[in-house]
Amino acid sequence: MTDLVVTGGTVVTAEGSVQADVGVTEGRISAVGPNLPRDPATETIDASGLLVLPGCVDAHTHTRLPTVAEPDRFYQDSVAAAFGGTTTFLAFNNPGTGISDQGSRSLLAGLREFRARTEGESAVDFALSAVITGQHDDPVAELPELIAAGVPTAKAFMVYDFRLTDERLFAALQAMGRHGGMLQVHCENATVIDALTAEALAHGNVGGRHHALTRPAYAEAEATHRAIALARASDASVYIVHLSCADALAEVVTAKARGWAVYAETCPHYLTLTDDRYAPPDEAEVIKSVISPPLRSDADRQALWMGLAHGGLDLVATDHVPDRVAVEKRVPAPPFPEISNGAPGIETLLSVVYSEGVARGRISVERMVDLLATNPARLFGLPMKGAIEVGRDADLVLFDPAASRTIRQSELHHTSDFTPYEGMAVAGAVVQTLVRGQRAGERIGVFMERRLA
Ligand SMILES: [Zn+2]
Repeated sequence: MTDLVVTGGTVVTAEGSVQADVGVTEGRISAVGPNLPRDPATETIDASGLLVLPGCVDAHTHTRLPTVAEPDRFYQDSVAAAFGGTTTFLAFNNPGTGISDQGSRSLLAGLREFRARTEGESAVDFALSAVITGQHDDPVAELPELIAAGVPTAKAFMVYDFRLTDERLFAALQAMGRHGGMLQVHCENATVIDALTAEALAHGNVGGRHHALTRPAYAEAEATHRAIALARASDASVYIVHLSCADALAEVVTAKARGWAVYAETCPHYLTLTDDRYAPPDEAEVIKSVISPPLRSDADRQALWMGLAHGGLDLVATDHVPDRVAVEKRVPAPPFPEISNGAPGIETLLSVVYSEGVARGRISVERMVDLLATNPARLFGLPMKGAIEVGRDADLVLFDPAASRTIRQSELHHTSDFTPYEGMAVAGAVVQTLVRGQRAGERIGVFMERRLA
């Protein structure tokens, strides 16, 4: 029997939109169709006038692990995800997230620690994407067991002091390809960035805006090209994280046109904000936009929307970093290479992409569902997620397209002390989020093991 029926809404899938009820039985979607039968015991949610969307799958977050001092840090960001319409998120366990030194040296120890410290700590479902760094003892040897344990994706970096050399990146791609995994790569040219950074510092240019000036778009495009070449040579797929500029997009578009298994994401901030954020004299404002890659030009921003509309980009994910200006980023700010990188976004993904994308006519609502739910679930091995389809988990978002609101830090639930979208007027609003048929809010989220198809 049906436990719950969501009635009268417009059900949106990547293929189309239809006026239909959604029946839920034991946490899964059991029927989609007009006027579904229900008995007196069936709970009903009236979705008249609302869009019924599959919950977003945010494939890129750096949610912090709980600690004794901040026991709810992970949980609170998962609550923020639920409020924003995200029902599954993938977290990286890079050193800045609070993972121990031991967990940073071994992929398997890192997985064990992540699972132990996050169990029972989430309002929505979640999974791990590992991080492979130069600090790992022998990551390539551990990859088969990591993949077998349900973590088939991992991120490697071409920049920072924990980057992989090209040789190790190649070996990691090769191992991923052989064992059914997919490597995610942060593409920026470290040689260029290190040289420009040293030059800036030598001239006393220590302010936050030099973060952006020392990470040019061509450095990202070159590294994107190189990552694609290494993936091709190792006969593996590759996934480009947080692609931010037209030149890097061109590399991906070319690779896709040749039929190579190259995928790419961009992030809401690259779709909405530009490098004028580095102009203010107030350093406390500038450091909020110290992220990597940095915010780009308006022409880049427009190119990314074209990439989303025409398939050069596969999905939008947040790169959520719950940094606080007062704590992790710090004011007065240190010299720019020491400013903590990242900005929050776990709660504003759907709002920003719907408003700037769908409401402005840049993408259809069906394409948005593809980009925020269906594609990430498919690419990251979550067959029960990402679509409103019989048999899948009843992860549903009731969304009012006629609502309008203003994004304000004071109304968000994440653990940051700011939002990059402060004061932004957005069309549409999340009314309710269901995780496996339950109203999100309690600690009901579970760790999802994944397998890539
Ligand atoms: Zn990231």
